Amino acid sequence: MKKISFIGLGNMGYEMALNLAEAKYEVTGYDIVKEKYKKLEANNIKCANSIDEAIRSADVIISMLPDGKIVRYVWNEIVSVLKNKPLAIDCSTIDIENASYFHKLTDERNIKALDAPVSGGVIGAKKATLTFMVGGNEKDYNEAKPIFDVMGNKSVLCGLATSGQAVKICNNMLLAVTMVGVSESFNLAESLKIDLNKLFEVISTSSGSCWAVNNYCPVKDVGPVSPVDNNFKAGFSSKLMHKDLSLAISAAEDNNVKVDFTKQAFNFFSNIIENNNGEKDFSFIKEYLK
Ligand code: NAD
Repeated sequence: MKKISFIGLGNMGYEMALNLAEAKYEVTGYDIVKEKYKKLEANNIKCANSIDEAIRSADVIISMLPDGKIVRYVWNEIVSVLKNKPLAIDCSTIDIENASYFHKLTDERNIKALDAPVSGGVIGAKKATLTFMVGGNEKDYNEAKPIFDVMGNKSVLCGLATSGQAVKICNNMLLAVTMVGVSESFNLAESLKIDLNKLFEVISTSSGSCWAVNNYCPVKDVGPVSPVDNNFKAGFSSKLMHKDLSLAISAAEDNNVKVDFTKQAFNFFSNIIENNNGEKDFSFIKEYLK
């Protein structure tokens, strides 16, 4: 069984590493915060005190880190101490520029690499139902696929290096904009004294239907249970949505693409964070817009 080194044991990485260990991979974890080490060790995950110790003799190295700057820093450190040529997989959600840097760094050393951001959130990480959006070549993807299959239930090879990040960014900007539209529609219906369950019944099977309504309707007791039914406990936090929108806007600016709705959504989420609601699920946007 392959030896996997897992760097970044936060909300997502912790659950993903546990699933790999449960599938009998030999997992070594590393994080600058050691708070979860005891729990991980109780679940057959070795915990390392340095990057060097964590990656020693790994066949696969997976990183799950907060942002592009940290990914750049950590992978620089990894390649500076690396002695073999493992498969490198970055699952963090980061900007295209730093994703390119990660690929360049590994390419120069003949190290196989994939960018593989995920969707599905902490619940998906825990239940191993994540979707992986993968950028890289087919041979490396095929090598990684059994590992993705342990942590998720779907992986898509989206194209060459950085395509996974590009697809993730494009998906999430659409999610934000559709959630703003859904929120405005339901806020208007509320003012017009419409029964919101009736509105849901119609929209969810009509031309206004979309994931934000059908699976994540931001109205209490309407549609399937979603974070609004749990006082906006994330789910997918407004802070993370704000981060993903900033990645979309910078990619759009670099490529001269007009993304006015995305910019508007970004401003809404900036305000939500300024009002100390950044930890709330992103569907809180409906309350904010009211
Ligand atoms: P998190 O902040 O909970 O975890 C990140 C971990 O990285 C932390 O434990 C932190 O201590 C560690 N870290 C920071 N710098 C480090 C370093 N130099 N070396 C080693 N470890 C370091 O974040 P998360 O929610 O687990 O998200 C991780 C990534 O997944 C992010 O890029 C995020 O955008 C993406 N993502 C998150 C979700 C979600 O719902 N949380 C969903 C999809 C994608």
